[in-house]
Amino acid sequence: MLNINKIRAQFPILNRKVNGYGLVYFDNGATTQKPQSVIDAEANYYANENSNVHRGVHFLSGLATDKFEATRNTVQAFIGAKHNYEIIFTKGTTDSINLVANGFRTLLKKGDEIIISELEHHSNIVPWQMCCEQSGATLKVIPLLDNGSLDMDTFNNLLSENTKLVAVSHISNALGTINNIETIIEKAHNFGAKVMIDGAQAASHVALNMQELNADFYCFSAHKMYGPTGVGVLYGKEAALNALPPYQGGGEMIKEVSFEKTTYACLPHKFEAGTPNIAGVIAFKAAIDFITALGVKNIAKYEDELLQYATTEVLKIEGLKIYGTAAHKSGIISFNIDNLHPYDIGMIVDKMGVAIRTGHHCTQPIMKRFNIPGTARMSFAAYNTKAEIDIAINAIKKAKQMLS
Ligand SMILES: *Cc1c(COP(=O)(O)O)cnc(C)c1O
Repeated sequence: MLNINKIRAQFPILNRKVNGYGLVYFDNGATTQKPQSVIDAEANYYANENSNVHRGVHFLSGLATDKFEATRNTVQAFIGAKHNYEIIFTKGTTDSINLVANGFRTLLKKGDEIIISELEHHSNIVPWQMCCEQSGATLKVIPLLDNGSLDMDTFNNLLSENTKLVAVSHISNALGTINNIETIIEKAHNFGAKVMIDGAQAASHVALNMQELNADFYCFSAHKMYGPTGVGVLYGKEAALNALPPYQGGGEMIKEVSFEKTTYACLPHKFEAGTPNIAGVIAFKAAIDFITALGVKNIAKYEDELLQYATTEVLKIEGLKIYGTAAHKSGIISFNIDNLHPYDIGMIVDKMGVAIRTGHHCTQPIMKRFNIPGTARMSFAAYNTKAEIDIAINAIKKAKQMLS
């Protein structure tokens, strides 16, 4: 059992007022709030530890390097990776996906195929379109069923010897669907294809073990798991990462530079050109420590309680329709009420301190699939409560009254 009051006390922002009301923050799918330990770790680095990593012989550089590398080890343990050098620090999920797509651009040729799904965030669509444009490969799309889950029969038919990569999300940011990635990975591997999972919505919501999951690549962002912005992870199996060419060239990623021939550093440095977000990476460890102390499984169980409660309560609002009704869902509720515009609902509840997301959630193909311009979305984190859900639902009811 989580002690929610104790958890909430660690998030200073939850004490602030918005438009005169206590903040109810239900936009965790976009980014989560940060606990004091993360804020302190970031400030402490600049106050007491600031130095570049991997470069200096001096004391502070050694300290910064040790702490930077400590986060890598913490991430490795957190996701059950086999080696710490399979953890590449990036700017975020988008950056991680682009790194992989940029690599595949050089590996693929005409006749090769990449499979993504209709459920994807634009970050897991556009880089593959660019990759296909530049390599001559073809993009195939797994369609969505009405309940917001993937059409696995069509996926089976799309798979072939031509499939070189399958790139799908673990959890949909727009609908909350938890995809059956275990099956997707196994089936893709049967055809010799590599698999990249967009785990941006999963990393603080479900327990991960890379060695059991067997994905070739797995991407996520620190800022959606109580950590700082500007930090992300690309996990890749050693061999899968080694098969990719470097993404960016520069300092840190080389073994030897000469005008005749430059040789590249080993993993992970091959993919970490330039000075990284040192403060952010160091503070990211505090975020993972926060999650680990609570237990990801406990968080998942609690967020599921919030989801079940909110789903039941929100459906009592007449004319409200939930998009995304798959059996396996994460703590995300996307909805519309009659023909009210979601933006208007979002604006009115904001006046009452309730932060929800409205719009297409960077998933325009899903909106097109359901023939809607957008939805209003509530997404939960470990510090949210049923009392907050009651407040939000009252605010949504008021918005409905005002708008109809
Ligand atoms: C947020 C999100 C992304 C993009 O993450 P960034 O941190 O903005 O790079 C990609 N995919 C999904 C499913 C997301 O929720």
